[in-house]
Amino acid sequence: MSDGLYEKNIICPICNNKFTTKKVKTSAIRVSKRDTDFCPYYEGENPLFYGVFVCEHCGYAALEGGFSITKPEENKEKILNTISPKWNPRSYGGRRDIDEAIEAYKLALLCCDVLNEKSSIQGKLCLRLAWFYRYKNEKEEKKFIDFTINFFEKAYTGERISGNEDEEVIVLYLLGELNRRAEKFSKSIIWFDKTLSNPQIKRKRHIELKARDQWSLAREEYKKRKAEVV
Ligand SMILES: [Zn+2]
Repeated sequence: MSDGLYEKNIICPICNNKFTTKKVKTSAIRVSKRDTDFCPYYEGENPLFYGVFVCEHCGYAALEGGFSITKPEENKEKILNTISPKWNPRSYGGRRDIDEAIEAYKLALLCCDVLNEKSSIQGKLCLRLAWFYRYKNEKEEKKFIDFTINFFEKAYTGERISGNEDEEVIVLYLLGELNRRAEKFSKSIIWFDKTLSNPQIKRKRHIELKARDQWSLAREEYKKRKAEVV
């Protein structure tokens, strides 16, 4: 029986060596539901587990998109000088369980740090790590939600999410929802307000509706919390 996976050949942009990695066939991807922060649940294999490619030779790890870009010499040197000497060559090219997926994403986060990558990319990695810990029902989820909030706030205030306005609305919504989940209700309300007043929101009807629902929830929770304190 097919497990819905296929193998992809990759050339590492850092060390130029070849390796293979698995991906889930599009036809095998079945989302059964999503949480309010878009965390997806799959009927079969989880494609997010394979979203980070790891070079077994030099230890470079990044989201799939990061592997298609030729790296400047200084980035190559940074990885080869800081990551590779500590790298115990091992392959992530087989079928991954959740713990291997977590390792792969943490490696990618480490490489982002070394290369000073954009906060929006680091936030994306942290959000997926938070989801993985949610699948496992582990309290690490909370830590990674906090990391995601910090990276997305930095991305929004510092980098501007340039050229991609759709993404900006999604990041604003996520900042509202993740702060709500972190029980930072007044911050959550501020971010939902920003989401709903963003000019792009009219083109994102499903986000607008979700933002209104979650904004009301955050308001209720905020009032309840205040009443308890008084
Ligand atoms: Zn490599």
